[in-house]
Amino acid sequence: MSDCLDDSLLYLPYGMGHICISAVDGQVIQKETIIPGLEPDRIYIDSNGSRRQSSLLEDGCLTIIPTLSCNERCIICPQCKESSGVGALSASIVSSIDYSRIHQVYITGGEPYIAAELLSEIVARIPNDIEISILTNGTLNLLESPFLLRDRLRFCIPLYASISDLHNRIVGYCGFYKTIKNLFHLGNNNIVVELRNVITKQNYTNLPLFAHYVCNNLPFVANVALMGLELIENAEKNSSALWVDPTDYNQYLLEAVNMLIDFKIPCSLFNMPLCTLPNELYNLHVASISPWKRRYLEKCKHCNIQNKCGGMFFSSASAYSHYINPH
Ligand code: SF4
Ligand code: SF4
Repeated sequence: MSDCLDDSLLYLPYGMGHICISAVDGQVIQKETIIPGLEPDRIYIDSNGSRRQSSLLEDGCLTIIPTLSCNERCIICPQCKESSGVGALSASIVSSIDYSRIHQVYITGGEPYIAAELLSEIVARIPNDIEISILTNGTLNLLESPFLLRDRLRFCIPLYASISDLHNRIVGYCGFYKTIKNLFHLGNNNIVVELRNVITKQNYTNLPLFAHYVCNNLPFVANVALMGLELIENAEKNSSALWVDPTDYNQYLLEAVNMLIDFKIPCSLFNMPLCTLPNELYNLHVASISPWKRRYLEKCKHCNIQNKCGGMFFSSASAYSHYINPH
């Protein structure tokens, strides 16, 4: 995303073509028009006369970022915090885009609840039949959101350990009990929650205890996503303290997943190359990495299961390379 969007134009899918708006205030510059070379279901950003495809809309999933600010300081944070104008950009997009090509909106950040008022405005502009997933660290006041009882709403909340010290060390903030409190409130209100845990050197041996904690204290969650690491931004800076090889974590992963399944808690495995998983877990693999961040290695060309595999983050490809094993 550009650091300065002042002079930028956005081309948003609209009808058979695109609508062109100002990235800053959403003012319509050009109504629906068909522009040669633009794919009808993608967003384009035109900055300083140079036009590029944006990753904000992929496969019918729209990503909205109300703010890049955050109250946590996660050692695994993959997010650059230096872009300005994202809130205005988000408001402009949700106001002007044609939703007929969109089936899902991800609202992420930063921490979206830092910009709670804008977040509410954004949600209010999204049609009710479109599913919204809000990726929040769950430490702020989620419960006063006016949209809380909206249909097709899902909260995706990270929980990195069964114990507060370990979770707090990873997020750089005393957030554990705030997150747990919000999780209980969401559960009590029957709001759909997906828990997310990223596997690192810091927490992989805790995975079975984490699963035990979830089964006993948070059994209402709709899904638990266990995730591979993206080695960019903070995670790249801290990679020696974070990276753990699949051969080291797989036995803990298997134990954790089996416990969740025994308790009938759905479980998914995100951001991990399929061949690095134990065979028993292949059916839980989700090809979750966005196409523009996804890499396959040269040896993947000879793999018979590539059509089922989501590959790996380009930033983690060299760390995984030793463990990639074509089938
Ligand atoms: S990864 Fe952590 S620091 Fe980064 S945006 Fe999310 S909650 Fe904030
Ligand atoms: S060899 Fe490559 S394509 Fe095949 S499962 Fe492994 S990472 Fe995926």
